[in-house]
Amino acid sequence: MINRRLMLRTIRRLYTWSRSDPVDEELRGWNWDKPPLRPRAYLELGVSEVASKYCETRRDVWLRRKVGAKPGPSEPLSKGRLIHEAISLAISEASRLIVHDWTPWSIYEFLKDKWRRLLSSEQVEYAKLVESIYKQTLLTILGELAYEDAVKSNRSQPVLISEFRVDGGNLGLSQNLSVDVVLEGGVIVDFKYGAPREFHKLSLAGYALALESEFEVPYDYGLIIYINDSNGRFKTSYKPIYVNSHVRRWFIEERDEIIDMLIENREPPVDSQCYSGCPYLKVCHP
Ligand code: SF4
Repeated sequence: MINRRLMLRTIRRLYTWSRSDPVDEELRGWNWDKPPLRPRAYLELGVSEVASKYCETRRDVWLRRKVGAKPGPSEPLSKGRLIHEAISLAISEASRLIVHDWTPWSIYEFLKDKWRRLLSSEQVEYAKLVESIYKQTLLTILGELAYEDAVKSNRSQPVLISEFRVDGGNLGLSQNLSVDVVLEGGVIVDFKYGAPREFHKLSLAGYALALESEFEVPYDYGLIIYINDSNGRFKTSYKPIYVNSHVRRWFIEERDEIIDMLIENREPPVDSQCYSGCPYLKVCHP
C-alpha cells in the first residue's frame, strides 16, 4: 500500500514538469518574513483548517474558533482519523524494530495484533477496516525489508517518517503541524479518505511551505494516497502533485481570507450546499 519504490516511481514523472515551471522564489517557505508569505496575524492555524474546503464559506472554522462549537459525530471523519492512526502506528512500530535488526517475520509476529489498541468500544464496527489497513501497511514495509535483506549485505535505515512534526509558526500556522509521511528526497505524503477533491492538494502546499520555512530546503513533490473502503475491504490510488507556484499561492490566499475573517469578526453565512459528513450540521441546521 505505501510501497516506497512505487511512491518514488510515481513522483518521478513530475521532474520534467518542475524543471520547465520552477517555483517562484517569493513562494518558498524560507521567505516567510516578506509578502506574500508574511501573515497579517499569527493565529496558529492548522493546515487542515486552511486546506479543507468542504465548507465553502469557512463557517466551520468560525464555529470552532469564535463560537467554541463542539463537532458532532461524523462517520467520514471518524474513519479518516482511524485510517491515519492505523498507518502511522504500523510505520512507527515497524521502524522502531527495523533499526534494532529484527527479522521481517519476527516484526510481523510481534506487531500483528497491535491495531486493536486503536479502537474504542464504540468503534468495533470499524475493526475489519482498521485491521486490514494496519496489516497491509505492515506487510508492505516488511516485504520491502525482506527484499533488502535478501539482496544487500547492509540493511538501510527506515526512510519513511510518519507523523513528522514541523513548526509552521512563521507562516501564521500551528507550531506543531504533523505531516502524514515524509519520504526521502523531500517528498510529502498525505492520506485522504473519500473521493478526490481539487482542494486536497492545498494540504501539500501548506506542509511544503512550513517544511521549507523550518529547514530551508525545497519540498517540491507530494503524493496524495486516496483510501476508500467498501464492505470492510479497501482500495488505494496514488495522485502525484507538483507543489508549484499556483498551488502555493492558492494556499496563501486561503490562509489570508481565514485570517481576515477572524480578525475582522465577519461571521460567514451557512453554506448553500452543506456536505453530509460535516460535524457541525446540527449547529447550522438545528
Ligand atoms: S453545516 Fe454547512 S455551513 Fe455549517 S459548517 Fe457545515 S458545511 Fe459549513
